[in-house]
Amino acid sequence: MNWQRWIAVGALATSLLVAAHAQNKPKPPATPRIYVFENGAIKGLDVALFNFKREELKEVDFVDASYLIVHPRGTLMFDSGTVPDNQFKGDGKPVVEGVISATQPLLPQLASTGYGVGDIDYFAMSHYHSDHTANANLFAKATWIVQKAERDFMFSDKPAGIVQPATYDALRNAKTKLLDNQDFDVFGDGTVVIMSTPGHTPGHQVLAVKLANAGTIVLGGDLYHYPEERTTGRTPTFEFNVEQSKASRARIEKYLKDTHGTLWIEHDKATLVSLPKAPKYVD
Ligand SMILES: [Zn+2]
Repeated sequence: MNWQRWIAVGALATSLLVAAHAQNKPKPPATPRIYVFENGAIKGLDVALFNFKREELKEVDFVDASYLIVHPRGTLMFDSGTVPDNQFKGDGKPVVEGVISATQPLLPQLASTGYGVGDIDYFAMSHYHSDHTANANLFAKATWIVQKAERDFMFSDKPAGIVQPATYDALRNAKTKLLDNQDFDVFGDGTVVIMSTPGHTPGHQVLAVKLANAGTIVLGGDLYHYPEERTTGRTPTFEFNVEQSKASRARIEKYLKDTHGTLWIEHDKATLVSLPKAPKYVD
């Protein structure tokens, strides 16, 4: 075969692959849905960091989760796990790093929904702490929705604290929707809204999703870590700004009351256990 024919064969194969991919991409749903991904656990935490004693908490260990929101007009990935996919050896064994562990990478869970990384239109994180940014680099082709104060911190000369800049470095050049302590209606119809909730970090944000059957769900990020924070009003010892945290919590509690909404605390084991996991979804 001469080289022109090789090129023709190559072009044909590429177009078949593209067609196959286009065919595989699911049809947009009629109403929004949320897919839940399991991203491991954080065990052996010092609960004093959260202003609690052991006996005051039902469950000490954190779980870690992330979410894909599929809307009739596009897709949004919210948070990205605590262990980067590239740390899995492919041998099916869990990854354990100190207090952090995970049994499965994120991308196969995402693929189970029919959507791939290239199908993600928007990417947002509740905040920059490393238990939410692990796979952020994978979503650098999406439009990154971030509060200015958060982004400024993430790309400051020496960001300090619970931070792994290498996991999100690719976002530096991502197409970015920069918010200045603002909410953002992602698809323009009020069903998927980023809500500014500073305090835990300078630009912490939560995501409110209005579902046809399940009603309003707020993906709470780290607005709270333990359900007991919600009932006692206590805040962690390491908040960026406690007064802001309290104001943000009050705002979201009012919103939940007004909308008869449900809060999903991202690190709460009981919440995650109760939810269907991808490829199942909540709608
Ligand atoms: Zn966290």
